[in-house]
Amino acid sequence: MQTFHLVIDGAQVAGQAGDFAVLNPATGAAFARCPAGSLEQLDDAVSAARAAFASWRLSSASTRRSCLQLAADDLQREAEEIARLIVQEQGKPMALAMSEVMGAVAWMRYNAELKIPVELIEETPQQRIELHRKPLGVVASITPWNWPLMIAVWHIIPALRAGNCVVSKPSSLTPLSTLRLVQILDRHLPPGVINIVTGEKGFGSAITTHPGIDKIVFTGSTPTGQSVMRGAASNLKRLTLELGGNDAAIVLPGTPLESVVDDIFDAAFLNMGQTCAALKRLYVHESQYAAFTAALAARAAREVLGDGLQPGVTFGPVQNMEQLELVHELVEDARQRGASVLCGGARLAREGYFYPPTIVADVTDGHRLVDEEQFGPVLPVIAYHDIEEVLARANRSSMGLGGSVWGTDLEQAQSLASRLESGVAWVNCHAQIQPNTPFGGSKMSGFGMEFGVEGLLEFTGQQLLFVRKTESA
Ligand code: NAD
Repeated sequence: MQTFHLVIDGAQVAGQAGDFAVLNPATGAAFARCPAGSLEQLDDAVSAARAAFASWRLSSASTRRSCLQLAADDLQREAEEIARLIVQEQGKPMALAMSEVMGAVAWMRYNAELKIPVELIEETPQQRIELHRKPLGVVASITPWNWPLMIAVWHIIPALRAGNCVVSKPSSLTPLSTLRLVQILDRHLPPGVINIVTGEKGFGSAITTHPGIDKIVFTGSTPTGQSVMRGAASNLKRLTLELGGNDAAIVLPGTPLESVVDDIFDAAFLNMGQTCAALKRLYVHESQYAAFTAALAARAAREVLGDGLQPGVTFGPVQNMEQLELVHELVEDARQRGASVLCGGARLAREGYFYPPTIVADVTDGHRLVDEEQFGPVLPVIAYHDIEEVLARANRSSMGLGGSVWGTDLEQAQSLASRLESGVAWVNCHAQIQPNTPFGGSKMSGFGMEFGVEGLLEFTGQQLLFVRKTESA
């Protein structure tokens, strides 16, 4: 078994609370052990970050840029090894894990090159007024288990680029690729600028109330996000909360089925459906309903399930048993209310947490499968009659991460998309993200943006500089 260490103040150390098993979801068996940090080690990491902040905050843009680019070089060089780790801890197929690593590299490079703007508000012979952006101090990053490396990069890199020091806390289900990432970053950064502590369940809440942390960037479920927010009130920590979603997609009447079915399937089942902004509720006009559900079921049949390290596998397991049980519970609830399960709908009788891509028809709003976030490999397809009615149904959710409209009349599709109550509205695509386009939720899906300059500025506070010019003698 490979050995993993915490990184605190530039040193690789063992966990004072021992270690814990990391399971491979393709087998359900332990394949590695992760160091379990103690609460004292969390304090050490926060103190190290605080001490390092005194000089890192003053480092030049070019210093920060070159440190981050060197780390990106290393991540790229070690991509295959880290991708294998992601497959083993998270379950996704190797090709998808490689795209996670290479996406992380691209995000690092893009963020490294971003500039922090100074806004000139007024310049007159009498006075000059500028708005400056300053780093916040110590940022804690708390990440989920679905895209462990990618989301860690989304948190950590803009925080560092803006001049903060970081304490990372990955999910205890998928900590290993983040431990590797932080080791790589630590090679190129002064001691204490980046730290990582891992622990079993319960460790995260100690972070939310920690008085030495100035900001938390959190990605995870809405209930945990609410708990983070409560804890953060203790010292008014700044927050970015990227929480759950229940994204609706509306297919306009007359949309040619063959031109969109593959894209809709991919958006719903990206990472076995375990993606915050995956397409989670599909509304199809009644005139095309039977054809769409049949085409989606046929598309699902093409997936090859198995251990993501095996060649030819396109569809991995669900990451953990709890999530698999939730997915199945929602499918069973729909079935008992008269839904038709067109394919999948049962755990595979083999080792690991395998649940095949499942298409559920004859469901509607009010069913748990439609109203709740399934976060797994099942898509409910819902028939609608009228456009205004379907828009109201799409917007009835308490979540508001993403949403999409599909159709050939771009004007109509765009006009409808702009009325979706979501942080991102897509037309003829879904879950499309890129480093230069801000992304974030509305309603109970959270607040604050990631990516682009907007995302970078989330890791800064503002200082207004007001200069009254004196007459020179
Ligand atoms: P989760 O909320 O259970 O855990 C997320 C992280 O929070 C983990 O590191 C966990 O250890 C930690 N944690 C748990 N309890 C905590 C507490 N009381 N205080 C502080 N930290 C705590 O989420 P998950 O099951 O890992 O991930 C799935 C959820 O994440 C889904 O709802 C999904 O939609 C959401 N998600 C959202 C986005 C987004 O960008 N909006 C991206 C990915 C995942």
